[in-house]
Amino acid sequence: MPIATVNPATGRTERTFEPHDDAEVEARLARAAAAAADYRLTSFEERARLAVTAADLLEGELPVLARILTTEMGKTFAAAKGEVAKCATAFRYYAEHAQAMLAEEAVALDNGTGAVRYEPMGPVLAVMPWNFPLWQVVRFAAPALMAGNVGLLKHASNVPQTALALEDLLLRAGFPPGAFQVLLVPSAAVAGIVADDRVRAVTLTGSEAAGRSVAEAAGRALKKSVLELGGSDPFIVLPSADLARAAAVAVEARVQNNGQSCIAAKRFVVHRDCYDEVVGAMVKAMEALAVGDPMDPATEVGPLATAAGRDEVAAQVEDARSQGAEVLCGGSPLTRDGWYYRPTVLAGVRPGMRVHEEEVFGPVATVYRAEDTADAIRIANDTGFGLGASVWTGDPGEEAAVVGALRAGMVFVNAMVASMPALPFGGVKRSGYGRELAVHGIREFCDVKAVRRV
Ligand code: NAP
Repeated sequence: MPIATVNPATGRTERTFEPHDDAEVEARLARAAAAAADYRLTSFEERARLAVTAADLLEGELPVLARILTTEMGKTFAAAKGEVAKCATAFRYYAEHAQAMLAEEAVALDNGTGAVRYEPMGPVLAVMPWNFPLWQVVRFAAPALMAGNVGLLKHASNVPQTALALEDLLLRAGFPPGAFQVLLVPSAAVAGIVADDRVRAVTLTGSEAAGRSVAEAAGRALKKSVLELGGSDPFIVLPSADLARAAAVAVEARVQNNGQSCIAAKRFVVHRDCYDEVVGAMVKAMEALAVGDPMDPATEVGPLATAAGRDEVAAQVEDARSQGAEVLCGGSPLTRDGWYYRPTVLAGVRPGMRVHEEEVFGPVATVYRAEDTADAIRIANDTGFGLGASVWTGDPGEEAAVVGALRAGMVFVNAMVASMPALPFGGVKRSGYGRELAVHGIREFCDVKAVRRV
């Protein structure tokens, strides 16, 4: 894929970038290694000062940055502004909490005293996706930089301006040259960079295929890897829930980010006693969504980020339709410039259909009728993914049973799944391994050092 900004709302190529050549990649790796040696010695107070300055800059430049996000990948301008603000919050959060999260821990020993220290690893490569082009990077970078690591970013090829804007902002915040650098390289270059001795670890957020390839490279090089991959999150609605609210949030959870979120609810599992009411309300709300120009404040759903992504969603829906799924609304692209797809609800979905087996990265909801709570849990777990899950219930006993039975990295009750700095984020099964955010995330890229004193 060429490294370029192609506006999804118009299909126009706005800017193209030459990839870094071997000499430039080498220079950046050398700079990262040199920076890592000094930066690991900085105090938490100094790092926090830089992180807070980064937050101030993000907030001060919020509309400019948000416009870049919308232009590169088509999220609504309102959503883009929210994303930039969330990044500022994360820098402030880790500025405040990193030191406590990584404080030396005392360990009781029979003979002598023990301690566990968390020390920075050094240069960490981050391979990132386009769907939350700033947040995905900051959710890696804010904790990693606060832990004393330095970052190398290989961003998705369609969001180069976002990557470069963050590199520039962090330099202006005062992070030393080499603490956070962009590598403008194709995905084919990633394995070689992972293998480089100066790179200590790698994190990838993206598709299963990319995850496999990066995990393989990391395995060959015996390096730590964290993988945040796709999801097909269930959204379970049981009759004891606030049904009107569940239906309204269901729609928001599906179409957030124009339907392109790993933790978007994708499969809606509704108890038969409230199925007609909930699904009816969902279809009505999906049909009423304003689809259009992401810069227009009235727009609720913008275009998909790439033509290929839009075509993939269309093919998945056609596959379901051809096998007997019922299209309750939507079911086709919009005929206009840009890569728009109508908000869609599919019923009668069965195992074997692509929309059941695969992640659907667009505004397409699949609805399932569950016979009872146990059946709802069975359907929810009937997937190779295990990222998030949302359950709607007003019954505490039912809640405890469902939360315990779901095979997912995150379960949200009476709320849509979201990422937040204080909660560990990540999945089980084919959704990946390792965690981002919270104490679990910041320690992923720390060497654990055991100390014994006698
Ligand atoms: P993608 O095609 O896998 O790309 C993600 C990143 O990996 C890009 O930087 C891409 O570079 C690179 N890449 C692709 N193939 C690679 C390979 N073989 N070796 C090394 N790097 C490779 O995914 P996407 O389309 O950008 O993002 C959508 C996917 O990300 C969805 O599956 C979504 O669920 C997942 N996601 C997961 C999370 C999570 O936290 N679990 C969060 C957001 C998104 P190029 O652009 O140059 O190909």
